[in-house]
Amino acid sequence: MSHSENTPRNFIRTIIDHDIRSGKNGKRVATRFPPEPNGYLHIGHAKSICLNFGIAEDYSGSCNLRFDDTNPARESQEFIDAIRQDIEWLGFTWNGLCQASNYFEQLYGYAEELIEKGLAYVDSQSAEDIRTHRGTLTETGKDSPDRDRAIDENLEVFRGMRAGEYADGEWVLRAKIDMQSPNINMRDPILYRIRRLFHHNTGDAWCIYPMYDFTHCISDAIESITHSLCTLEFEDHRPLYDWVLDHISIDCHPQQIEFSRLEMLYTVTSKRKLSQLVVHDHVDGWDDPRMPTVSGMRRRGFTAASIRDFCARAGVAKSQNRMQMSELENSVRWDLENKAPRVMAVLDPIKVVITNWPEDRCDEMECPNHPKIPELGTRIVPFTRELYIDREDFMEDPPSKYFRLKPGGTVRLKYGYIIDYQDVVRDENGMVVEIHCSYDPATRSGQDNSGRKVKGVIQWVSATHGITAPVRMYDRLFTRPLPADGKEGREFTDYLNPESLILKPNAVMESSLASANPEDRFQFERLGYFVADRHDSKAGAPVFNRIVSLRDSWGKLEQQHGA
Ligand code: ATP
Ligand code: MG
Repeated sequence: MSHSENTPRNFIRTIIDHDIRSGKNGKRVATRFPPEPNGYLHIGHAKSICLNFGIAEDYSGSCNLRFDDTNPARESQEFIDAIRQDIEWLGFTWNGLCQASNYFEQLYGYAEELIEKGLAYVDSQSAEDIRTHRGTLTETGKDSPDRDRAIDENLEVFRGMRAGEYADGEWVLRAKIDMQSPNINMRDPILYRIRRLFHHNTGDAWCIYPMYDFTHCISDAIESITHSLCTLEFEDHRPLYDWVLDHISIDCHPQQIEFSRLEMLYTVTSKRKLSQLVVHDHVDGWDDPRMPTVSGMRRRGFTAASIRDFCARAGVAKSQNRMQMSELENSVRWDLENKAPRVMAVLDPIKVVITNWPEDRCDEMECPNHPKIPELGTRIVPFTRELYIDREDFMEDPPSKYFRLKPGGTVRLKYGYIIDYQDVVRDENGMVVEIHCSYDPATRSGQDNSGRKVKGVIQWVSATHGITAPVRMYDRLFTRPLPADGKEGREFTDYLNPESLILKPNAVMESSLASANPEDRFQFERLGYFVADRHDSKAGAPVFNRIVSLRDSWGKLEQQHGA
């Protein structure tokens, strides 16, 4: 697997290269990323962002961030702010910061132009009638009784709609295209509807709102976009976009190119479904570290570079684009491997008493912060009589190939000494609460001349110097690779993984971690990569999230479902 920030070739870049060679658009390249602010950005959006902003960067072009905000019922300033923050965090800078709602006046003008050309009409049919008269994939549509109204009347009613003379739903404006078209999008689509809703940008200025399809293509043209990149579901809308742009007085006609949506196993990438998870409290908000949202992944500890790397490797094509979660995880392992300092932590502590170690002795062990990068320096870790190791690293009745601590066994404490098992102390329920061991003074790490060889090396933390901090272990949000495939007639929420969050409230770790800043990342030796939580971690009271384990335990399973 290759990891690099060098964007691979793709068919869209081939088209752009060709356009530049032929001098099209004056060799200019202008793209945009056009989210509807009705949710937080997810990993699929990240792919589109990397594509649009990446192309603008590589071709010395421009890329706008444009909010396609035509449906005030579902949009909000919270979403706008989150989207801006996520794009900046991913490392991209927009040229224009645009809002389709800033074009409402122009859009209205183009609608009047269509009416004046006899290419749009007002319709008083009910929403239900309009829907049934639209026909189906196999059946053509039926003309509305309002279709042949005179231009003057259409104009008068449309102006009345804008002026607030009619109730919500009383009229709509429709394009007059072709009710017989095999493409349902061309069967006189609705362009405007009356909706008395407060808009986050235009307030109460409008009681009619343009439909997404009408707005989207004109907004691209207003911004002189050259290459309008979107996902495949808009392929069938392209003829409508072309029709609109061909029939209004605008000189720009962006070229739309469609690519396949990124899908990910063991999660969902649809704002509607993600919003359901939030609204029904299945997760702790849009930025819950288990969410495939950009802000969720950020909080989980993924780096912007790892997400960009993942998107580059997902590629851009028209064929199905289904990626494994383990690919994303490999990206962050790759990014953190040479950056994250190593520290020692114990998630489920059990006490080890070194019986031949004096009560008040404290040795300063010098530990490298990275095994392969000496420039990352060293730190001092105190070794004391009482230590903690992970409960998992001791077994009373182990299988034959168990090389960690066991009765009669020997283990090396990493960067410390070799210790030999002596005894255990149990509580009233028979549970082991303390392990007694002796240490071998000749085995101090770095100065070991004992010639002893041990197979197991485990991490440890001084019981007197370590700190306690909660650690949250995250895993797949769903138990099935395709939770939303509707098979078995179940809801995707039926497959939520009950073990997607496991809290380790008693974790102990080196005291240096008390001063970790939010978003500082570490490798906890043998356990994985961890981040100090962006919101919950405070100076002196850190809270850690596991970003990813050190090794991939899901990859094989996922490959069976991959593309
Ligand atoms: P959702 O289905 O999650 O609501 P959407 O397409 O409705 O997604 P928009 O806000 O309209 O969300 O998307 C903004 C841009 O991101 C569009 O150009 C869209 O094509 C692109 N996009 C959305 N989802 C994906 C995805 N899974 N993969 C790649 N691009 C995507
Ligand atoms: Mg959309």
